[in-house]
Amino acid sequence: MAPGPARTADLVARAERLAQDRGLQFTALRRRTLEVVAEEGRPLGAYDIAERLSAPGKRVAAVSVYRALDFLTEHGLVHRIASRNAFVPCEHGHGAGESAVFLICRRCGSVDETISTEIERSLDRTLAQAGFKPASRIVEIEGECEACQGRHEASLPPD
Ligand SMILES: [Zn+2]
Ligand SMILES: [Zn+2]
Repeated sequence: MAPGPARTADLVARAERLAQDRGLQFTALRRRTLEVVAEEGRPLGAYDIAERLSAPGKRVAAVSVYRALDFLTEHGLVHRIASRNAFVPCEHGHGAGESAVFLICRRCGSVDETISTEIERSLDRTLAQAGFKPASRIVEIEGECEACQGRHEASLPPD
């Protein structure tokens, strides 16, 4: 994940377009919540987001942040990582009902979002067989990212 102002601006622009197309309100709190999530390089919980949005004498309640996150999640601008109860910006812009696969590194906490049509297809089959109607289609895989594996190997003594 490469956090930064460019990606934040892209995401905000995407949110603005989407809100306009669907006749939704992209409120100041929704925008600021999206900015905080986009600028962070790791999954962020609602309480951390509330803290960042709060200024001295002007606290933002976590419940308001949760409502903003509901909106952002519903419209595919951020995703909730269930195993962390934390939120990450969407790296793709896939439509509703499309699945996302998250690769979560246990060492550095990085989260990579990928899309796999193969997983998508077999998930479709599995869901159809089970007669199950999914509310979200998010696959989370925990492990060790490439960079952390590299660090690990580099610290081993040479043969
Ligand atoms: Zn996504
Ligand atoms: Zn890592």
